[in-house]
Amino acid sequence: MKHITVIGLGYVGLVTAASIAKLGHYVIGVGRDKKKIEKLKKSIIPFYEPGLKELVKLTQKSKRLSFTTHLPLAISKSEIIFIAVGTPSGLRGEADLSQVKTVAKQIGELINGYKVIGNKSTVPVGTGNLVYKIIEREVKKRAKDFNFDVVSNPEFLREGRAIDDFMHPDRMVIGDSNKKARAIMKELYQSFHCPFLVTDLETAELIKYASNAMLATQISFINSLAHICEKVGADISRVAWGMKLDQRIGKNAFLKAGVGYGGSCFPKDVLALIQIGKKVGFNFGILKEVEKINQDQRNHLLGKLKRLIPDLRNKIIGIWGLSFKPETDDLREAPSLTVISRLIKEGALVQVFDPVAMNKARLLLKEKQIIRKVKYCLNPYGAAKDAWLVLILTEWQQFKKVDWEKVRKAMRYPHIIDGRNMYEPKAMAKLGFNYMSVGR
Ligand code: NAD
Repeated sequence: MKHITVIGLGYVGLVTAASIAKLGHYVIGVGRDKKKIEKLKKSIIPFYEPGLKELVKLTQKSKRLSFTTHLPLAISKSEIIFIAVGTPSGLRGEADLSQVKTVAKQIGELINGYKVIGNKSTVPVGTGNLVYKIIEREVKKRAKDFNFDVVSNPEFLREGRAIDDFMHPDRMVIGDSNKKARAIMKELYQSFHCPFLVTDLETAELIKYASNAMLATQISFINSLAHICEKVGADISRVAWGMKLDQRIGKNAFLKAGVGYGGSCFPKDVLALIQIGKKVGFNFGILKEVEKINQDQRNHLLGKLKRLIPDLRNKIIGIWGLSFKPETDDLREAPSLTVISRLIKEGALVQVFDPVAMNKARLLLKEKQIIRKVKYCLNPYGAAKDAWLVLILTEWQQFKKVDWEKVRKAMRYPHIIDGRNMYEPKAMAKLGFNYMSVGR
């Protein structure tokens, strides 16, 4: 069994720490916020991820998972140190590496023997080498001569099903330049049955960006096609189905039309890959278009709404779903935030409901100073009450089971705009709704 440190306890770091502990290793999760660490010690999780609380509790109980803010102790005890800190967008869309650089410096100041530094954060090509140089510089400053290796081990988990994704990955990518480090990483994941792809550092770093950019491209592609469907009377769901039956495209292709992608990864990773291209003199035009189409998709939905209700002043609009996708409370780059801001700006009275993201939304909208203009409701019916229109922005399963009779009675007018294509248009019309979706 190995001793591991995971630095950064956000969506990726905390899932990584608890899951590796479940594999039987001893893991110390390191955070910088004392209050958060004290809560984690009591198995209080700072965000919503199904099954994570139970997993943290279980692994803490078996003494395989612990939490601290004290990096020196964690590093001294560990053979592998994972970096799982944030890499948000910088001013021009490039990945901001300040958190990674800070952690690399700390590791260099503290290592006390051979370590493998595994990078789980999504970072531009060349970051592994940069991390190596920073650690080397700090070690030299101490007049020490410790060996260490830096490995790129990108994470592909999806929020909302993160534990299952971590435990049963489609592939394990290990980018390194050293046999010893590779062997240690393979040992760590020896119970995984997925394909192991061992590459150089640069290739591994690029695989992560390439995967996310490709998925985002599929979404913008299908959303573009949805515009044509709306003009010619075709059904985008059936078009996508027909496409997926081509084995070169595949049944799991990410071809779901809707309000566009959001979240902490696709938007920033598309921008970062454009910048990576720029740095080496390549104009990644297709990705610029992917990004633009994604932004326009939100406007397209608002355009439909405005055609129905041109003057939004003092009109109640209900919003179902705030998180960028179901089963998470993550609001980073969520379409709901853009849509709510626009509606408020135009004078609408906005009523929202989301099963788990309400508290986070309150905090975020407070920062944007629009808190007082939004009414937070206890359920979808509350958000629909007296509404001129209900807008569906996250495909929570709960919204599949609503009592439509109750919804229709609650609303002032039975207008529904479904940004996630959750329902059958004919069935909704039969229920008495003026139902609009995307590309159908
Ligand atoms: P996050 O913002 O939720 O978590 C990052 C955490 O690192 C924060 O809690 C922050 O406080 C902590 N941190 C920063 N500096 C620190 C330091 N010096 N010491 C200790 N802790 C520190 O981010 P995330 O969503 O977990 O993403 C982390 C990385 O993984 C990013 O590069 C992201 O692109 C990548 N990634 C994310 C996902 C996802 O679905 N969220 C999936 C795959 C990869």
